[in-house]
Amino acid sequence: MMLQLAGFKAESIVDGPGVRATIYFQGCPHRCHGCHNPETHDPESGLRISISDLMAMIKKSSAISGVTFSGGEPFMQASAAALLADQVRALGLNLVVYSGYPYEKLIAVSYLDPSIRHLLAVTWLLIDGPFLKGEQDFNLPFRGSRNQRVIDLTQTMLEGNLVEWKGLDNGYEQQVFFAE
Ligand code: SF4
Repeated sequence: MMLQLAGFKAESIVDGPGVRATIYFQGCPHRCHGCHNPETHDPESGLRISISDLMAMIKKSSAISGVTFSGGEPFMQASAAALLADQVRALGLNLVVYSGYPYEKLIAVSYLDPSIRHLLAVTWLLIDGPFLKGEQDFNLPFRGSRNQRVIDLTQTMLEGNLVEWKGLDNGYEQQVFFAE
């Protein structure tokens, strides 16, 4: 299966906890005012790549503890993203996914779309919601505006209630601040 991508970074420290490979999906319907990646909006732009070729690139990154799906909007390509997510998890890597959709919207559509349901089920952290210029905060780890949440999806699924990631209270803000 093929993916339409805007880019790939083999090692990133700003797209979730630890060192991560980041995949930038092409195509985004949200059109947030002040978006830093407008080149990712057109779903026809970017480059087409097979999941197997992308996995080969990920396997070369020996320092990573996880993979991040960023954008663009990864849920626009939910069926391919879910297949890729399974292969990432099979390597023992954790998965962080960004979405311009709020968590509640994704859960609502997941009842109609098994690929979205599957992608949510194998995601560790979901960083949700659109970028809002009026809520912009440069000091937030892993996200650009205060309305966006870092949701511990694994724990959320276990508890049945939305659980924000506790790592943010355990020194990650300091670590990321100094790492930058
Ligand atoms: S969701 Fe992200 S990529 Fe899409 S318009 Fe908003 S900030 Fe840009």
